[in-house]
Amino acid sequence: MAAGIRLYIEGDLTAGAPVAVSADQAHYLGRVMRLGVGDAVTLFNGRDGEWRAAVARIDKRAADLMPETQMRPQAEAPGPWLAFAPVKKTGTDFIVQKATELGVSRLIPVATANTQTGRTKTDRLAATAVEAAEQCERLSVPEVSDMQTLDALMGAWPDDRRLFILDETGGGVPLAQALAGGIAGATGFLTGPEGGFSARELDRFAKLSFVTRVTLGPRILRAETAALAALVVAQAVAGDWK
Ligand code: SAM
Repeated sequence: MAAGIRLYIEGDLTAGAPVAVSADQAHYLGRVMRLGVGDAVTLFNGRDGEWRAAVARIDKRAADLMPETQMRPQAEAPGPWLAFAPVKKTGTDFIVQKATELGVSRLIPVATANTQTGRTKTDRLAATAVEAAEQCERLSVPEVSDMQTLDALMGAWPDDRRLFILDETGGGVPLAQALAGGIAGATGFLTGPEGGFSARELDRFAKLSFVTRVTLGPRILRAETAALAALVVAQAVAGDWK
């Protein structure tokens, strides 16, 4: 029995009600991990907590698992949102993977004036988030939105969620100070592209009541470094690292 296989599934998790896994997951369990009937797998679905399950039936492209015991209840505080201008090559995958490990509840790719990459592939980013959630043992998987324009993001942003915009031009307040006394789960962060935000975008941010421009210190960080750093500060100062 391979120890520690942990899978995210869509179906409900209740004792005694078998749940099917995807064809790819069945292939992974059977062909790669060589599991057989009776072997244990840990399951979570973002709603019913974490369950220990046993393989009830398995063949090349299908498997049914039988949830047996709930190991952890679904008691996870919702994390912050991260809106980000996609960056080239593996940078966007890195942002999605690290933000998932750091507990974000929603990931929103945003096209800003200086964004140089094309549309993001939502399914691929969502699969990256699932894999990171399985690995880091969180009980949920962040929602991954389709890429949207900055106008759409700002127009739909909820008034009760503070948006911290990472501003490398020095026009912001230190993030730890801005977060003091707040709750990371009720916040969101926005990082810019390789070329940064345009002057027009920065001017616009300054006029929005739900926005706080913040700085991550005197050095110019890569977008993926900035996203990671902001989430680390958020979880340490106002989030679930306490
Ligand atoms: N505009 C700069 C340029 O063209 O070299 C750099 C942009 S930086 C590579 C990408 C994004 O990371 C920025 O838009 C900002 O959101 C964030 N960032 C980088 N360094 C930062 C800092 N010291 N404080 C706050 N945000 C930062």
